Amino acid sequence: MTLTAGVIGVQGDVAEHAAAITRAARAHGERVDVIEIRRSGLVPDCDLLSMPGGESTTISRSLRREDIAPEIRAHVAAGKPLLATCAGLIVAATDAGDERVSTLDLLDVTVERNAFGRQRDSFETSIGIAGLDEPFPAVFIRAPVITDAGDTEVLATWDDRPVAVHDGPIVGTSFHPELTDDSRLHGFTFFENPSSEPSPQSP
Ligand code: GLN
Repeated sequence: MTLTAGVIGVQGDVAEHAAAITRAARAHGERVDVIEIRRSGLVPDCDLLSMPGGESTTISRSLRREDIAPEIRAHVAAGKPLLATCAGLIVAATDAGDERVSTLDLLDVTVERNAFGRQRDSFETSIGIAGLDEPFPAVFIRAPVITDAGDTEVLATWDDRPVAVHDGPIVGTSFHPELTDDSRLHGFTFFENPSSEPSPQSP
């Protein structure tokens, strides 16, 4: 059985997410077809979804205009996994602290956009993530911080601020796990997450 993975492709590092999903699937002995989502009608076929970084104002506007937003909500409501990174996290949040972002209200967090300031616009650091044995290389690019993690489980902090959270089928990160070779977070979200619907088993 081959799983269908969707990468929200309205903007951002779509190819990198597709590659990370493929690597994670291989590491877990799963087969995936990865499709890019730029219009409605495709998400319902997806077993798992990634929502990449980019510009959250643009992404949220496109998701509404193309009528993809309700499909992503239905995907999560069905317990299927979603990895939301950087701008994707902002879009998935309850409160983006910015009315130009129309959030999907999927993850009970409040975020602050571009919160690391100019000097730390972009940086890479190594962080500990709950559930992963070894530190994870985290790439932050004009990243948001989570100012209120609500009832989500905080998986990682940087500088005492939450930068990765987990709630049911959703994992959200301030950083870009798709920009390194390390696909453990994709693996955790899609193939090891106990609170998402079990993936169809390979025959
Ligand atoms: N700064 C962007 C925003 O607020 C997010 C940046 C990113 O996804 N790398 O939408």
